[in-house]
Amino acid sequence: MIPFLDLNAVNIRFEKEFTIALQNLIRKGYFINGDEVKQFESDLERYLGCEHVIGVANGLDALRIIFRAYIELGILEFGDEVIVPANTYIASILAITENNLVPVFVEPDIETYNLDYSQIKFSSKTKAILHVHLYGLVSWNESFYLEAKSRGILIIEDCAQSIGAGQYNKMSGTFGNAAGFSFYPGKNLGALGDAGAIATNDDVLAQTVRVISNYGSAKKYFNEIKGLNSRLDEIQAAFLRIKLRKLDEDNKGRQKIAEIYENELKGTPLILPLFSENHVYHLYVVRTENREELKDFLDQEGIQTLIHYPIPPHKQKAYKEFNHLNLPITEKIHETVLSLPMSPTLTIEQVKFVCEKIKSFFNQD
Ligand SMILES: *Cc1c(COP(=O)(O)O)cnc(C)c1O
Repeated sequence: MIPFLDLNAVNIRFEKEFTIALQNLIRKGYFINGDEVKQFESDLERYLGCEHVIGVANGLDALRIIFRAYIELGILEFGDEVIVPANTYIASILAITENNLVPVFVEPDIETYNLDYSQIKFSSKTKAILHVHLYGLVSWNESFYLEAKSRGILIIEDCAQSIGAGQYNKMSGTFGNAAGFSFYPGKNLGALGDAGAIATNDDVLAQTVRVISNYGSAKKYFNEIKGLNSRLDEIQAAFLRIKLRKLDEDNKGRQKIAEIYENELKGTPLILPLFSENHVYHLYVVRTENREELKDFLDQEGIQTLIHYPIPPHKQKAYKEFNHLNLPITEKIHETVLSLPMSPTLTIEQVKFVCEKIKSFFNQD
């Protein structure tokens, strides 16, 4: 059986270090807002090359607290429009609507699955753009960025799937005004539970998100704003510090696997993802009109695949107000995508086995 992602194999590599870190914390007896979080924040600042990292409880919170902070600062107001790719995980959209901002869905580029910059139209209400680096591929366009910046439009990045991916010698998460990261266990840098972070070079924003995530308080029991409880905890921070040291190596392992898929599968009818050094392959997503048949076939061969995602946010029951929207490229993507096994611990033999089975599927008749 080849699992889509073997989290046991991913984490067992750190078992000794995790155990020591946990023992130390139990003995210390300090679990919230302590040294581990501070250390992880500065480790990640150094890794990304940015001024501030603020740990929060999860990736959705990272994004929604960024928007909330801009509202608190008077830079965004209710009803402002936020441009966002239509094919993304629902968290990107929830962060916008929860803050009474209006998502403006833009179709993706069918080659990159990221924002199609040529489709973006600014309105007088456009105040921010949420760039989602989907599946681990950097979503960026320098001339578009300069245009948006000259109009005073905020550039926010959803880096939940792209930690470690970069372009122009910069890391994703440092291109715009602020970025949200997720350390959900299955992400490229995964905690052993929920965790997330915000990155920014803006001192005022950094202070504001820190206050919001800690009950609206900079000083204990003095509450400046109606805040949230969204903190990264000491145990997850300690685990993440250990795993961060291996992130680049793991991402290289993912790129190596992508290279094997690329070489083995390029002769098949499958549409393969862009092969790029700006991609950390959080997911290796292929496309085929025979998605369901291929998925069932691989299942029977003991190969687990997943679909990211079966229904786009604007077609979800939760977003009835957007169900009428017609976004054919996004909808087509959701009908045809399939994510092949991808993890830094997959062996070359396992990847080659997956490729052999895919080839035999297409050679059946
Ligand atoms: C995982 C993910 C999130 C949310 O992260 P959580 O930690 O699960 O809250 C946001 N955006 C994208 C694109 C994601 O993949």
